[in-house]
Amino acid sequence: MISLKKTQQQTRDLINRGFDRHIRLAVTGLSGAGKTALITGMLEQVLNGYDAKQLAFWQVKHSGRLLGSRLIENRDWSIPRFAYEDAVKVLTSAQPSWPSSTRDVSEIRFEIKYQPRSGLAKHLMDERRLVVELVDYPGEWLLDLPLLQTDYGAWSLQQNQLNQQAERSIHFADWYQHAQAQLNKNDVADATLRELAQGYQQALKSAQHAGFYNLQPGRHLLPGQLEGAPVLAFFPWPFSDQRSAQFEHLNRVFERYKEQVIKPFYKHHFQGFNRQVILVDVLTALEQGKARFDELIETLTGLLNSFEYGENALLRRIISPAIDKVALVASKVDHVGPDGQQALNQLLAEMLRRSRQHFQFERIEHELFAVAGIATSKAGRLSDGTVVLDGYLNGNEKVRVGAPFVPTQLPSAEQWQQGFEFPQFVPHFSAADSPLPHIRLDQLLEFLLGDKLK
Ligand code: GDP
Repeated sequence: MISLKKTQQQTRDLINRGFDRHIRLAVTGLSGAGKTALITGMLEQVLNGYDAKQLAFWQVKHSGRLLGSRLIENRDWSIPRFAYEDAVKVLTSAQPSWPSSTRDVSEIRFEIKYQPRSGLAKHLMDERRLVVELVDYPGEWLLDLPLLQTDYGAWSLQQNQLNQQAERSIHFADWYQHAQAQLNKNDVADATLRELAQGYQQALKSAQHAGFYNLQPGRHLLPGQLEGAPVLAFFPWPFSDQRSAQFEHLNRVFERYKEQVIKPFYKHHFQGFNRQVILVDVLTALEQGKARFDELIETLTGLLNSFEYGENALLRRIISPAIDKVALVASKVDHVGPDGQQALNQLLAEMLRRSRQHFQFERIEHELFAVAGIATSKAGRLSDGTVVLDGYLNGNEKVRVGAPFVPTQLPSAEQWQQGFEFPQFVPHFSAADSPLPHIRLDQLLEFLLGDKLK
């Protein structure tokens, strides 16, 4: 009897193994887009989402077929693990705060045990497993793709032109002056080149801080493990005359950056992604005004080139595509009411129209979402119909504000003139708030994993 049971279990294990599925799900977006909060929120729902009502659109959960889920060890121990537990800890501590943002690539792996919905599998066994590897990486790294198609001289001229533009030049003017003075000297030490590279990195960060999006090279903004590495010791050549030994030296560093940093990222990370979430902080861009908003559209369109394999012969030479679904996601939608969330969805669709056409052409399934990884407000309706948001602003101050207006289309000149402002709710949770609240993560989970959980 015992041995029969054992054999049955072994058979089941064998079948299970045969049916095991595995998916690499990558999350990206520019700095501050909300990657850390989103991944934390997704893990909260997957691991602790006991209440099926809260996850009504996640079919496997809603239909009661989700048998369990748990974190499992990462496969690759050389890649940092996504700090999920730390994130929850700071969000639910006595003085809650937001967790540290993404600075490098990180991964976390979980396993979902579920009952198949129908078909042959249902008769053969009770359960199946899906293993999901969540990968978090800075969207800035994707901004480097065009560097592969250019050379140091052309890139320098292009960046110099960009950095001279009115508002942007505030962040770069001092660096150019200093760089030109240093490079005009007879003997330029290696240390000077390194110092100029660091100065350029600082100028880029200052521009990023002021809301600029179109910034290269991406690793200067978020070097990850390459902080201080010689391969990052370059900057745009600040003269139109490109004949000099220093120019040649920087040219070599630039070529190494392409070979040793950009290409390996695509080969070793990007190549293995099956599904991709792209987060966009549309609300902050609206607050920053038309110039920055337009720049975000342009930058995202460039960033999404990495997913347009057909168009991009160069990318096809480096990798063979494996991504079959892309979720384009407006983040932090707890700062607006339900109507605003719908509007954000439409606005994002408009912003990414060009890239979406390419996706369609290439048959990459894509959908738009408006979500909050961690929801810090609750929407309500007053008796007169006014929609309000309850939440906490800085300093633990409980507030109720009217839901702000969000345009459904690219804003008009008049709307830009009036400007946009959204409340900045802060987390106010305790350990009892498990799983942390979210907005529409169930829809996102269904899109990303639903077809693998049938
Ligand atoms: P990352 O750089 O993409 O990892 O961005 P983070 O996830 O660290 O988010 C940056 C900041 O945006 C956070 O510190 C929060 O202030 C805010 N934020 C991110 N996600 C949410 C969200 O779901 N709701 C709210 N209210 N704020 C968010």
